[in-house]
Amino acid sequence: MRKKIAAGNWKMFKTPQETREFLRAIKSLPPPSCEVVIAPTYLCLDAAVSESAGTFVQIAAQNCYSQNQGAFTGEISPAQLRASGVTHVILGHSERRHVFKESDQDINKKCNLALKEGLLPIFCVGEQLAERKTGQLRSVLEKQILYGLEGIDLPAADKFVIAYEPVWAIGTGETATPEDAQEAHAFLRELMGRTAGADFAQKVRILYGGSVKPGNTAALTAKPDVDGVLVGGASLDVDSFGQIIAAVRIQG
Ligand code: PEP
Repeated sequence: MRKKIAAGNWKMFKTPQETREFLRAIKSLPPPSCEVVIAPTYLCLDAAVSESAGTFVQIAAQNCYSQNQGAFTGEISPAQLRASGVTHVILGHSERRHVFKESDQDINKKCNLALKEGLLPIFCVGEQLAERKTGQLRSVLEKQILYGLEGIDLPAADKFVIAYEPVWAIGTGETATPEDAQEAHAFLRELMGRTAGADFAQKVRILYGGSVKPGNTAALTAKPDVDGVLVGGASLDVDSFGQIIAAVRIQG
């Protein structure tokens, strides 16, 4: 059985002090049945790692660079993240793809190095509204997966996580229906079976992201191929994220 995950992406919100306060509150909740991952900004990682040490909360970075050191002003490397106690890294988030124009090839290089350094990628894919409306859902996901994960030894990448995040549902209040999510997740799992083998496809966790709230978490995670949620806005508030963690269905 795949253990489900509730992951919070804080984007460019919260100070180190606010990070500590949030983590003090969240770690005092009863231990959940799902894994919990929080992705603060780089500046708050140190506070997050020290405050969550020895608890059920794991810490992710929201991005990383594709080299471990060098003259790359403003970038942070996988090796630095690992040395700071970070366990996961979100890669290919739609804001990285569409606001910062990261290509599948950029994301591929980052993913490769992150895995080599022992970070667990949360690899995001998802279509834009126009692409969905013109019947390109599958071809967009296929391209993001095939180019983004090209050359990566996935069967060796234990605990790899994919996040299906339809761009039109991120920060808009529009959520994919549980049926829409299940359809995309089943396609992604089938695609992983074709490219990385049946064992990997059964093992890989596929999260749904896009306007997840306490009220829609149970229905989404009840679907057999939805292995948890990646939450933006609703992860910023302890009460709402706590309710989301509690609402994640253990079994699909
Ligand atoms: C996200 O940032 O990954 C996200 C899904 O955001 P939101 O939950 O706010 O739509």
